[in-house]
Amino acid sequence: MADLQTNIRYIKGIGETRAKALGKLGIATLKDLISFFPRGYEDRTLTRPIKNLLLGENACVKAMIAADPTAHRISGGRTLVKCRAVDEGGSLDLIFFNQEYRKNSLHKGETYIFYGKVEGNLLRRQMINPLIEREGQQQITGRIMPLYSLTAGVSQLLLSRAVRQGLDECRELLEDVLPDAVRQAHNLCYANFAYENIHFPTSPEALEIARRRLVFEELFLLTCGLQLLRQRRQHVSGPVCEPIDMTPFYEKLSFTLTNAQRRAIEDAIGDMCSARPMNRLCQGDVGSGKTMVAAACIWFAAQNGWQSALMAPTEILARQHYEGLSPLFARFGLRCALLTGSTKAKERREILAALKSGTIDLCIGTHALLTEDVQYAKLGLVITDEQHRFGVNQRAALGQKSDHPHMLVLSATPIPRTLALIIYGDLDVSVIDELPPGRQKVDTFAVGESYRQRINAFIRKQVAAGHQVFIVCPLVGDGEELPDERKAVTAYAEKLKKEVFPDLEIVALHGKMRPKEKEAIMADFAAGAIDVLVSTTVVEVGVDVPNANTMIVENAERFGLSQLHQLRGRVGRGRVKSYCILLSDHQNEETKQRLQVMTRTNDGFKISEEDLRLRGPGDFFGQRQHGLPAMKIADLSCDMRLLDEAQTAAKAVLAEDAALELPENLSLRRRISELFELNAETLN
Ligand code: ADP
Ligand code: MG
Repeated sequence: MADLQTNIRYIKGIGETRAKALGKLGIATLKDLISFFPRGYEDRTLTRPIKNLLLGENACVKAMIAADPTAHRISGGRTLVKCRAVDEGGSLDLIFFNQEYRKNSLHKGETYIFYGKVEGNLLRRQMINPLIEREGQQQITGRIMPLYSLTAGVSQLLLSRAVRQGLDECRELLEDVLPDAVRQAHNLCYANFAYENIHFPTSPEALEIARRRLVFEELFLLTCGLQLLRQRRQHVSGPVCEPIDMTPFYEKLSFTLTNAQRRAIEDAIGDMCSARPMNRLCQGDVGSGKTMVAAACIWFAAQNGWQSALMAPTEILARQHYEGLSPLFARFGLRCALLTGSTKAKERREILAALKSGTIDLCIGTHALLTEDVQYAKLGLVITDEQHRFGVNQRAALGQKSDHPHMLVLSATPIPRTLALIIYGDLDVSVIDELPPGRQKVDTFAVGESYRQRINAFIRKQVAAGHQVFIVCPLVGDGEELPDERKAVTAYAEKLKKEVFPDLEIVALHGKMRPKEKEAIMADFAAGAIDVLVSTTVVEVGVDVPNANTMIVENAERFGLSQLHQLRGRVGRGRVKSYCILLSDHQNEETKQRLQVMTRTNDGFKISEEDLRLRGPGDFFGQRQHGLPAMKIADLSCDMRLLDEAQTAAKAVLAEDAALELPENLSLRRRISELFELNAETLN
């Protein structure tokens, strides 16, 4: 007997070859198969009179074969079968390539349903290779058909047949993860009905009912999961801290902290002095000074006798933090270490020993901080920078390094409240909504290719004035294969050097480079040895080069607004006037509008709200960077009401049964641990 985890190749009617093709869509198990929701639908419920058919549309007609089909040999050894079908008001030519059997399977005088694209002309309409079914035996006509996202070797027909098999197979197996009471209270249909009708709706109304249930379920599971993650910290105690006077720390800084920075620091210190481990997100626009918030927390933890770990997503960033923070902490007699993938074995051994014995107060690094052999004497605080690159699970892994350290997450990706609620649902949030004084607005222009000459002249002028320039190119590919970023960026840098700026120092930087190489280039750029840095979005995150004042983004339409905002944040970090030029030749109105938003505001929160409004949340949820389960069906730009309902329901269920241990909640609990890839231990 099959279960939902059964590999689809064992499902009747699918088999090895099809299973392999479906594998390319990420479908491995029966559960994957029935959860592969259609991207749209085609209404084939009604048949249409032939005389009303429009050229180019797909349609169903019910017609009688008027004369016996004829077969012809054509070039390349192919065969062509032709015949004519008629209904009350019109006639339709049917043409079949390489389907010789049609000659004998279509019978004069009999009526069939034909489905296909209408071609030919209005006097002589035709269908080429239409689908054919007998009336009363319809499977792919006479109903609303699902349209799936496809890949090479998988057709709509193959997929819809496979899903049909899958649904038939698991009718008995589908557990309803929604507790009955929730389902009833929110007027939701049964799981079986929902899965059946999301794929093969019997009517538009049934589809809506099915969709509503599945969206609700998805949001409900997500909310419950996040609540559980949050709760599990309620029962444990964190590293204990006592309030202390922060003045000595503040006095050693070369600037006064902004009020927003102070507030965020106070929030965090408040958490660390409570009995529970801190689990806080500090959200602030690029340049808002999150590093100092982190530094204050690290200092505070150290005064309380705790070690800290600061984790950055790239080596470059880790090094920059190290170079910025270690001199500051040295003034207080605190010791820092830098631990990355490229730390030499001997040095690494020394650092590990010092961390274990407790002589290092702060360890800065990349994922290397997560490896098993890194042990701390007294880890009290874990900070991750640019959070969206780390998943929930990675954070959890670092958390498990010691009992339950305080966790502070820094994010420069401003996210509208509604989304923050979901993405960061397991965190408390502080927002730094103020920039340090004297920050200049980055002047931003959205222009087309016709400005190329002027832009080149502008670059030259900036370099002549002693400044530096970033040029960011997206990966522009023509086919399905991702283009080779190494080639794209290198070729572009070479072209610039040869054709436009032979006298300037132009260097390419891309993600495929070895960390050492990237770092050397960034170091050169920071030192002013490079005039123009041509790169992919690897410069997106946090690198600080105050002398770089111009950011040029090629094919800007390919980036989301939030990403453009991140890129723009690479300039305007020093005292010099800074510029951002968004190049795009896209004539699309919406694209133009989007890029215009960038020229109007420098406020990351406004920009992300605009992004959400214009593009939907796909951008935020597109990559599973946040480590949350991918949204398969909910669309948060229009399902906000349902989100509200799902959240209310989740709270009510958890208020009754905090650990989901009641019998009626067991399958819910099982599903959540699956979704969040949590083991039972983390859930408890
Ligand atoms: P981000 O929030 O993007 O991580 P950083 O922490 O890198 O920002 O800060 C950006 C720059 O602003 C750094 O050079 C930092 O030294 C400086 N800075 C931070 N806080 C202040 C402040 N209160 N006043 C002046 N400069 C500040
Ligand atoms: Mg930063």
